[in-house]
Amino acid sequence: MEIEKDGYPNPPKQENVGGCLFTVVLLFVLLSFFPIFNSPSKTEVPYSQFRNQVRDGKVGKVVVGENRVEYFLKKDLESAEKSKSANPDKSYVTVPLPKDQTLPNLLEDNKVEFEVKPNNGNNSIFAVLGWLIPPFLLLLLLAWLANNAQGLGGASNPLNAGRSKARVYLGDSNEVGFTFADVAGIDEAKAELEEVVDFLKNPERYTRLGAKIPKGILLIGAPGTGKTLLAKAVAGEAGVPFISVSGSEFIEMFVGVGAARIRNLFEQAKQLSPCIIFIDELDAFAKSRESSGMFAGGNDEREQTLNQMLTQMDGFEGNTGVIIIGATNRPEVLDKALLRPGRFDRQVVVDRPDKIGRLAILKVHTQDVVLEENIDLSIIAGRTPGFVGADLANLVNEAALLAAREHREAVSMSDFNEALERLIAGLEKKTRILNETERTIVAYHECGHAIVGALVSGPVEKISIIPRGVGALGYTLQLPEEDRFLMLEDEIYARITTLLAGRSAEEVVFGKISTGASDDIQKATDLAERSVTLYGMSQNLGPIAMEKPQSSFLDGSYNSRRPVSSVVAAAIDREVKEIIETAHNQARLILKTNRDLLEEMAQHLLEQEVLEGEELHSYLNRVKAP
Ligand code: ADP
Ligand code: ZN
Repeated sequence: MEIEKDGYPNPPKQENVGGCLFTVVLLFVLLSFFPIFNSPSKTEVPYSQFRNQVRDGKVGKVVVGENRVEYFLKKDLESAEKSKSANPDKSYVTVPLPKDQTLPNLLEDNKVEFEVKPNNGNNSIFAVLGWLIPPFLLLLLLAWLANNAQGLGGASNPLNAGRSKARVYLGDSNEVGFTFADVAGIDEAKAELEEVVDFLKNPERYTRLGAKIPKGILLIGAPGTGKTLLAKAVAGEAGVPFISVSGSEFIEMFVGVGAARIRNLFEQAKQLSPCIIFIDELDAFAKSRESSGMFAGGNDEREQTLNQMLTQMDGFEGNTGVIIIGATNRPEVLDKALLRPGRFDRQVVVDRPDKIGRLAILKVHTQDVVLEENIDLSIIAGRTPGFVGADLANLVNEAALLAAREHREAVSMSDFNEALERLIAGLEKKTRILNETERTIVAYHECGHAIVGALVSGPVEKISIIPRGVGALGYTLQLPEEDRFLMLEDEIYARITTLLAGRSAEEVVFGKISTGASDDIQKATDLAERSVTLYGMSQNLGPIAMEKPQSSFLDGSYNSRRPVSSVVAAAIDREVKEIIETAHNQARLILKTNRDLLEEMAQHLLEQEVLEGEELHSYLNRVKAP
């Protein structure tokens, strides 16, 4: 019910079309099976009976077809004449002996009126339809399939399948809408691309000296770091058209469609030259061919699309003024052929911004936002390590929405804090009401995290037992003070200890445990395993890689184990278990040492639901080391 209210009252349009086509087809089929055009009732009789009736003088009129004879009885003809209708409503049909030469004589002898019809008379139309309908049906079916395969937003006409689905923004009147002023915090990448603008603006300067203008530039970076934005800014600065397409749009069910689209894309680009082709998610079709060869025959469509891409890139001269900018967050899976000179030979890494970068991005996005006087954007920049441009844009917008909702004149610092919490922990769920027992468990659990966290892994900002987001019943907010690029061994263990402190508090206080710690346990185990298999921190196993990193730019992508012997696998399990156990014991020890403080804090949290700022710090300053 709610989904309907949320603004999707109609099913997607394409489904509708598919449905309609089938109704029409069904109607056609029904019509062809029931010859409703032949109104009079017909009775099938044996041929011998027909000949007898002729001899007995009962037959008035005969229509001879090639393999069918239709006839009317004299009495029916007479009654038809009386009622002044053209034809009697009753007739008889029979199947003659093949080529019965005696029939004309017999009819003449008995003075029966007869005529000969070519073929089957009335039924010929159905014979024709019978031929036409199956291919017609097939075509419709194909069209429908193609439609569906292309999904929403696809070209709805199957004959258009080979057309590229690129969106074109024309360069004049700055339709692209972005310039370098809109891009902040990724200065190295920006500097690289500033040169490209110059290529596009003054190609003669380079060609005169015989220099070749690069054809392809590959932007590599995590999602949301501003790769699309950067490419658009290049087009905007140079004032050239921007053709944007996503790599996944080339991959279709039918082999060859992707290749045709690539061809079409390049043709389009040559006509608009000088211009920029931007291909997002390049890895969708440009995956290494070796890696996909494991399955029978590989993936033909992807391979053909990639080959076409390579051919097209080789095919045009660098001086045509078409520059291709590709973007990917999985550079390691790209086919090596794509990275050779003359193709995407320039690779630009678009990094996550550092604190100064984040400040610059916040400045860009708060340009049109009314801020309160006292807002210090650098504090927000400091509290958002790991955030990319898209996250920061989102943060500013959330804060502005919060202020607008309360009809305030300007956005305040607390709006930013609330927005930040929303982004990190999800929306508050006031409707998720916990019972008293649950609230108590959650309160002690969160205080456990806070006490241990404050002692081993840095300042705690806030604890709350207001449910948030998808599954969080409470949470402890620990924001890093600075950007970190390395994590020391101790810090990893401290983090694991903090993660396990929630569960430990439940054990220390209630002697019983709940399901509430599952997420903590998941993260702790993950971290412990990584420290062994990826960071080589185990004393016993040493610095040996036991995992293959999958992607350096995507969070949450899981690595795969290298093939290790069962002995090593067992050793890994032992090491992980030991790390977890040590951390668990330490967390319990800390909490037992601070048992009174835990009690006091938890009671206060139960009353107030949230502890933060000075109040929280005065508690956490009292934490004693065991
Ligand atoms: P990507 O293509 O890397 O996934 P986008 O370019 O689509 O990321 O970024 C999405 C949005 O995030 C942009 O439209 C812009 O509003 C904001 N953004 C991202 N990076 C930056 C940046 N460096 N400077 C300013 N805004 C940014
Ligand atoms: Zn927890």
